Amino acid sequence: MVSLDVSQTAANSELTQTNRILVVEDEDLIRDMIVIALEEEGYEVISASDGRAALNILQNPKLLSNELPLDLIVLDLMLPQVNGLDICRLLRYEGDTVPILILSAKASETDRVLGLEVGADDYLTKPFSVRELVARCRALLRRQRYSSLPQTPIQQFRDINLYPQECRVTVRGQEVNLSPKEFRLLELFMSYPRRVWSREQLIERVWGPDFLGDTKTVDVHIRWLREKLERDPSQPEYLITVRGSATASAKAAPRSPTLAIAPWQY
Ligand code: CA
Repeated sequence: MVSLDVSQTAANSELTQTNRILVVEDEDLIRDMIVIALEEEGYEVISASDGRAALNILQNPKLLSNELPLDLIVLDLMLPQVNGLDICRLLRYEGDTVPILILSAKASETDRVLGLEVGADDYLTKPFSVRELVARCRALLRRQRYSSLPQTPIQQFRDINLYPQECRVTVRGQEVNLSPKEFRLLELFMSYPRRVWSREQLIERVWGPDFLGDTKTVDVHIRWLREKLERDPSQPEYLITVRGSATASAKAAPRSPTLAIAPWQY
């Protein structure tokens, strides 16, 4: 067992407002590893070792202390009795919007798309690093916390479709797999077409006010997003970099030195 520094755990719980996470995993070693790592982050963790036990917890909130809702589910796909995809599908069918991070031994694109299509928010393939899992959980919880955009069934811009409820994006009819941060950035851009954003504004809206990193992080994510959305990332059509003030017009803007990032060119 790992011993916890009590003072540090207390500080972490305050930071995370003691988010409550359900971990569903049938392999004992992996489940214990995840539970310990998340508890060390200060989260309250409940675990289940098969699909039926997970559904029992989800459908009987009285089994949870204080009957508070769950903030996140870490869900293995291959489970005894009821599999992860069916659990995911059932929750979304019932209108439950709790963020779901799927774990799977399957790495193929089909499984990845399937997982996201049934309403999962993110996907991690085994073997994974515990640090990455914790980082992704934190990102999903933070996205939930700072999500203040109106939720509409679908957002469209030219040939990009974004499905906020399903965390899914298609470009020119093809499914694209975005990380939670890339998705959130795109959702923000699509909610305010033609608006020019500064890096600081994007950090504030997407990473949250307590982000400690560098504004170069924004450039890196914009580059990844361009690689996934644009026909030619070196000649972007959607994500246009605007030189000068935040009021500069996207159309007139040259593509080089960047002071602000504008979403859409008209
Ligand atoms: Ca399994």
